[in-house]
Amino acid sequence: MAKRGHHVELYELRDDIRLMEHVPGRSINLAMSIRGRSGLREVGLEDEIIKNHGLPMEARMIHRLDGSTYQIPYGKKGQCIYSVGRRFVNEVLLNAAEKLPNVHFNFAHKLVNSDLDKGTMSFKNLKSGEIVETDADLILGTDGAYSAVRKQFMKRARFNYSQEYIPCYYLELCIPPTASGNFAMNPKCLHIWPRGSFMMIALPNQDASWTVTLFMPHEKFEQLTTPEKLIAFFQTHYPDSLPLIGKERLVKDYFATKPSGLISVKCYPHQAGKALLMGDSAHAMVPFYGQGMNAGFEDCVVFNEFLNQYGDHNLEKVLPAYTEYRHVDAHAICDLALYNFIEMRDLVNHFSFLARKRFDTVMHWMFPNWWVPLYTSVTFSRMRYHLCIENKKWQDRVVRKLLWSTGTAVVATGVVALYNFRSYLQKLF
Ligand SMILES: Cc1cc2nc3c(=O)[nH]c(=O)nc-3n(C[C@H](O)[C@H](O)[C@H](O)COP(=O)(O)OP(=O)(O)OC[C@H]3O[C@@H](n4cnc5c(N)ncnc54)[C@H](O)[C@@H]3O)c2cc1C
Repeated sequence: MAKRGHHVELYELRDDIRLMEHVPGRSINLAMSIRGRSGLREVGLEDEIIKNHGLPMEARMIHRLDGSTYQIPYGKKGQCIYSVGRRFVNEVLLNAAEKLPNVHFNFAHKLVNSDLDKGTMSFKNLKSGEIVETDADLILGTDGAYSAVRKQFMKRARFNYSQEYIPCYYLELCIPPTASGNFAMNPKCLHIWPRGSFMMIALPNQDASWTVTLFMPHEKFEQLTTPEKLIAFFQTHYPDSLPLIGKERLVKDYFATKPSGLISVKCYPHQAGKALLMGDSAHAMVPFYGQGMNAGFEDCVVFNEFLNQYGDHNLEKVLPAYTEYRHVDAHAICDLALYNFIEMRDLVNHFSFLARKRFDTVMHWMFPNWWVPLYTSVTFSRMRYHLCIENKKWQDRVVRKLLWSTGTAVVATGVVALYNFRSYLQKLF
């Protein structure tokens, strides 16, 4: 918005993270793919974040119970997603915004009230305790899954909202670099330990360490109350990870934090009065497709396209047009993210899933524009999210028909062969 010539006042609850030694909060690293990159590209930051910092991950590395592993490539040769540091991404964005003369930061300011029609807002200065009143032509509510801006939407008629906590919590652990300072596992992969109703994943960090995330039902977390139980649990379910994390470190990290819940939020419309919800405030999702941040950056790209189409001073057209267009995709990616949880924790262990993956890969190789697998369409293209689902449904229908025709052909051939064989035997005796 600042590059488009507008004056931007940025209000943020936290202090300036660039001045903090330790930033509290969620996942240390994130998987960035094409949609996130398209947003960064538009503000000239793609290279700084991806080329200079991102760690390419070309495949999922699946860890079986017996410690053996196999890879499932994310896409075609050369296609990959990138592990990027959450703090680093935030810092790069803040540094770039700070260079623009028409952006002003207000850290440690908490939104406590707002009037969406008038465009007025009240912030509490968390340092002085004073209440700051301000107003704007446009309020961009990018304040996350528990958005204070969205709370004002809830009071309005015709605002639909739903939230779902999945019965799964997460907790972060760490695999340190080896004694020689190297990665303890293949850093070109996102590592997954799928165990049916629970799982563990690991993404590489720049310093050769790994951020390991344990996803489990809350009851399971509650059972692991002592170091002995925790170590026994890892020996049973994640034996190959134990020497990499280290028993001492595992116990220290596990008991240092409480598991966090995972929420999925859908709402409509994303616009009310002078306010627009973007990012998690409009569509918080469970993290299993690695699309939350990506979808948020894509929101910016789409919004920018509508501003180009209707003009910056035509917000009464831009905001409803954006919300009509975008909410369908926001709902779709929330659904896809929930689906991918089942795929990651369980389906990757199934023969039928792997066979279908192979089939999709071969078809995509033969018909790159006609047969685009679901994961590829979500992660390596900017196909609208709801069309990714439509496309997958169509492919499922084709596969079902193919299987049905092949099955019928096999049965028919068998019947004919049996009949011929019987006639042959009759002639013989
Ligand atoms: C475990 C986990 C792993 C994830 N992995 C991935 C991944 O691999 N790839 C991916 O694309 N996404 C991932 N995500 C999702 C991603 O983290 C979010 O989608 C993304 O951070 C959303 O960005 P946002 O700016 O909309 O909201 P947030 O990142 O939540 O930022 C909201 C900001 O608003 C501020 N704020 C909140 N309330 C107020 C208030 N009242 N007043 C002022 N300021 C306020 C907050 O301090 C914060 O800085 C993951 C999420 C989790 C939980």
